[in-house]
Amino acid sequence: MNLCVLASGSKGNSTYITGNDTNILIDAGINAKTISTRLESINVNPGTIDAVIISHEHGDHTDGVKVFCKKYNIPVYVTYQTFRSIRHDWSDLNIVNFEHGKSFKIKSLTIKPFYVSHDAYSTSAFVVKNGDKSIGIATDLGDFSQLLIQNFKSCTALVLESNYEDELLMRSTYPWNIKKRIRGQRGHLSNKRSFELIKKISEFNVLQNVLLAHISQENNSEEHILKHLKSFPNKHVKILLTAQDNISEIIDI
Ligand SMILES: [Zn+2]
Ligand SMILES: [Zn+2]
Repeated sequence: MNLCVLASGSKGNSTYITGNDTNILIDAGINAKTISTRLESINVNPGTIDAVIISHEHGDHTDGVKVFCKKYNIPVYVTYQTFRSIRHDWSDLNIVNFEHGKSFKIKSLTIKPFYVSHDAYSTSAFVVKNGDKSIGIATDLGDFSQLLIQNFKSCTALVLESNYEDELLMRSTYPWNIKKRIRGQRGHLSNKRSFELIKKISEFNVLQNVLLAHISQENNSEEHILKHLKSFPNKHVKILLTAQDNISEIIDI
């Protein structure tokens, strides 16, 4: 399998995964043109995408779906609750519903969606499996649960939110209610919690690569993340940052 985060941050998220003959995107929150350009930059024809799978209804995960999926006639996989709460009109798209805890197949890839806590109607994290290899994706979550650890413990690679440095968020000019929302159980994952989770998962000795996602441009910095990285105990795990304006490294799993 190959994994590449095409974009990540509060202005739009999209992750590309390929395995054997199958190409999927998790979320399409950047505009369709940018998705196509970034796919082409890694030699992927956008018309070969087999499915777009949606984590939740927020615009930074869904804004590019309509144009991209209509243009290439790509099915959209989404929970019923998320579909009902989308502010775009998706009536002319090919919609396939999935449910948390019920795995589904897209050609050679098996996708297991499960619940994570975030301020949307229904937010999903995913494990994408191909043979004995799997990738875990959780880009928006207020906190992690035992369920998430169970699902991610056998993953070779993770795309995981590392949204904010608490000290920067608290010092920022954001109104108190926004700060409270971000830090809450249904908000976003801090660097501290993200690294605690990576440590827990790495103790199962399967994890090799982590792409840190949804990094806030206001309340986080490379410097702060590097501090966490320096004190991270398991040096066998390669941890990289993703960005809003550039694709990530392509991870070969
Ligand atoms: Zn969100
Ligand atoms: Zn988001």
